[in-house]
Amino acid sequence: MARSKSILTEARQIERAVTLIHLGARLQVLESETDLSYERLLRLYKEVSGRSPSKGQLPFSTDWFMTWQPNIHASLFLNLHEYLNKAAALDEIDTVIKAYQLYLEQIQAQGLEPLLSVTRAWRLVKFVDNGMLTMTACSQCGGHFVTHPHEIARHYVCGLCNPPARAGKGRMAGALQMGHPHAEAAHAH
Ligand SMILES: [Zn+2]
Repeated sequence: MARSKSILTEARQIERAVTLIHLGARLQVLESETDLSYERLLRLYKEVSGRSPSKGQLPFSTDWFMTWQPNIHASLFLNLHEYLNKAAALDEIDTVIKAYQLYLEQIQAQGLEPLLSVTRAWRLVKFVDNGMLTMTACSQCGGHFVTHPHEIARHYVCGLCNPPARAGKGRMAGALQMGHPHAEAAHAH
């Protein structure tokens, strides 16, 4: 019994790893989220993606999430993630996968390029778990956006309500419009 259970567990881990590879995850994400050996993950990665995984460090800084358009993309993902966290009883990594798939659907529906990679999405959730990032409601639109934990909610205005001056009309047209994130997250399910 224990043996068949471990085979099932392993099958699920391989399935997760394959899904993550298809979504473009870095090898470090797979190492962190499965019990599969590095050698097996490496083989799996090459087999699924047809290439060797990229080397180098994962992005460790929270700065990227604070820049204008990335912040809106990251906020959309995190709203979907929070929604799934409450609505569905999924394992942590499956919540990230599902939320990321919903994020891709919404981005593609608007004809935009996904700025947020699945590796960054995964890191974002870790940053939130560690208390390095959180979500703050915009004082103007009420949408929830990724911010540093010390953000003063009363004064906070999001990047959609207050786009940077360099964002001309053309750039705004190519920007992600999030509307009411909670409503969208709810509809996306
Ligand atoms: Zn706003």
